[in-house]
Amino acid sequence: MKVVTISPTNILRLIAAGAFGLAIAGCDFPADSGSSPQPVESDDAAEDANPAPSPAEDDVPTPSQPVSLPHGAPGALQEKTARFEASLGVTDASVVAPLMRFPVQSGPAFLNSQIFMFGGGGYNYGGGEVYENPNTGQENDPVNFDYPWRDNFCEVRTRSNGLCAAGVGHHGQDIRPATCDNGANLAVAPEDGFVRRVGATHLVEIYGDSGLVYKFLHLDRPLEPGIAKDARVVRGQPIGRISNKTGAVSRSTTVHLHFEIWHGLASGGVNLGAGPLPPYSSLVEAYLDLVDDNPDQFDPVLPPADVQECRTP
Ligand SMILES: [Zn+2]
Repeated sequence: MKVVTISPTNILRLIAAGAFGLAIAGCDFPADSGSSPQPVESDDAAEDANPAPSPAEDDVPTPSQPVSLPHGAPGALQEKTARFEASLGVTDASVVAPLMRFPVQSGPAFLNSQIFMFGGGGYNYGGGEVYENPNTGQENDPVNFDYPWRDNFCEVRTRSNGLCAAGVGHHGQDIRPATCDNGANLAVAPEDGFVRRVGATHLVEIYGDSGLVYKFLHLDRPLEPGIAKDARVVRGQPIGRISNKTGAVSRSTTVHLHFEIWHGLASGGVNLGAGPLPPYSSLVEAYLDLVDDNPDQFDPVLPPADVQECRTP
């Protein structure tokens, strides 16, 4: 991981006020995000200056290199998906949940927009303000299940969010599991904690021991065994099946996990209600941890999944 210098933002003020740790994502972003400003300045120029190996060293087996996960920069939203057309999301690369486990059990997984990619319905903001999805086609389009990942924390929504330029945003990150099969993939607990809220149809909230709150949307019912309000959960424990469910009956989204990180908690488990934190860089770091531990399953250079249809197991 690179060591980077952080530009001060309101995110850091939030972090300073919170009880959680801080690490920094060191990312090499793909060329297609080159128009976006770099969120951080590297101060590791010496480390980057890679001297050519001597001929003798060429014969020495080199240890495996860190995997580069193809992903856009934090805040580099898909074009025309923010309320202010050209605005960025949160560009600060701070990792707000440095110890969390990636919240999908199996790989690969893909971070991108649910409503503005294939199978998505666009967004009706209200008052005649409509955002159409330029990607017409089916949810099983391989592009939905390919890299680079894209941040969509500040994608257009009506939810109040002072971290986004428009003052409103999405509050979370949409994550597609390996395929669009409804209910085939499990969401898991990001850290040890308690289930504190279980919605009637598709919501689960976990209050982590670190003080962070994790919100999961679109989890089918029934949830996994033992998952109920006030149940103790451990990091990596299956919580529920990732689905396209938004209510008791309707199935109007694509199959994906909507994932949010909030802070924080006072003692006694009271949510201070300070608002959602940008989860993107934390998800990148958490996924890279899985790649390190299990490169065969989570290798991000796998070809796009062969998604034939969206099935229900
Ligand atoms: Zn979402």
